[in-house]
Amino acid sequence: MQSFIYVNDQSDFTIYNIPFGVCDKAGDTAICTRVGDVVVDLSECERTGIFENLALPEGIFRRQYLNDFIALGKNVTREVRLRLQAALTRGGRLDNDIFRESAIFIPADDVHMLLPIQIGDYTDFYSSREHATNVGIMFRDPANALLPNWLHLPVGYHGRASSIVVSGTEIKRPKGQTMPEGADSPVFGPTKQLDFELEMAFVVGKDTSPGDSISTSEAEDYIFGLMLFNDWSARDIQKWEYVPLGPFLAKNFASTLSPWVVTLEAMEPFRVSGPVQQPAVLPYLQYSGDKNYDIHLRVDIEPSNGPEKTVSVSNFRYMYWNMCQQLAHHTVNGCNVRVGDLMASGTISGPAPDSYGSMLEIAWKGTKPVQMPDGSERKFILDGDTVRMRAWSEKSGIRVGFGPCDGKILG
Ligand code: MN
Repeated sequence: MQSFIYVNDQSDFTIYNIPFGVCDKAGDTAICTRVGDVVVDLSECERTGIFENLALPEGIFRRQYLNDFIALGKNVTREVRLRLQAALTRGGRLDNDIFRESAIFIPADDVHMLLPIQIGDYTDFYSSREHATNVGIMFRDPANALLPNWLHLPVGYHGRASSIVVSGTEIKRPKGQTMPEGADSPVFGPTKQLDFELEMAFVVGKDTSPGDSISTSEAEDYIFGLMLFNDWSARDIQKWEYVPLGPFLAKNFASTLSPWVVTLEAMEPFRVSGPVQQPAVLPYLQYSGDKNYDIHLRVDIEPSNGPEKTVSVSNFRYMYWNMCQQLAHHTVNGCNVRVGDLMASGTISGPAPDSYGSMLEIAWKGTKPVQMPDGSERKFILDGDTVRMRAWSEKSGIRVGFGPCDGKILG
């Protein structure tokens, strides 16, 4: 399959992807997809008749968020994506000179991407064994790094949806209360240990009612798609505040989300098996089939006046607990989920130090600073730094990526 739109080798947006996003179009919002460096306005596409017989609600592609579209259900959204893919393929219905200069196609550089989901509830898991082990070694007991529950359930907490922002939004360094090493009373001020967390997140695509549970075998029906996610964290604030209820102000000031939702259908070629789970998990967490995904992940830090440095190369396939297990666990008590809920993986660390998903681990609590190309050092993120995350899958000539997840820190 090939599009009539030019797509370079390294593009996230091949004809195999067809993600969904929302852009600002002269002050209006437009639901769109992207091929190569061209954003495709779905409302304008609809006028050509490519979605005929789908009974789409009036104005569904002029909404501010994707939620109403997603709520139409996978039978509809899957078909919309397939029709777009067919129409955008060489020789497809949009491969026609009469559309070439139309409002359907917009150069990607000319549009501003918006947060595509109205996020109702946001949950953050803690599902990378390597990450949980590293944190356990640093802060607790190297001999018993994992807490007793960790291998039996996907640990998580409820985060804050209001401060999730789209890639490109500048982040103000948070202030807060910390207990400096050796001090006997806390101090107040800007965090000195601002960190990123490399995560993937999934968007819930179907409501449940209170009291209902989703089994691991049903879970994929409830997952609309995936996004790249940076769960910014202030480690010094976290360390002092987190006992006994977990993260609070160290996490809720901001998280950055990539602008495109890549559908689960687009990720189909990249399924892989997950790690063996030992001890065996309880029946409600058991699953069959390949539920992990081979997604390459990279984090770069770019100082305000210097060249960037890649600080982590990881992979989503390392996750111990998969998304189906996370959703099954989240709802096993009857907790309901809603379209637009966001569930993040937790920091994704791989086995080697160059695959760790946070500065806390990469610089090992500040003991192994990262050398930057401009001669400076990083233990954590400094003012003026931009953290850039990238995620993409590639197999047998098929490439599907997530677009940027970038954020610059302001002092
Ligand atoms: Mn996190």
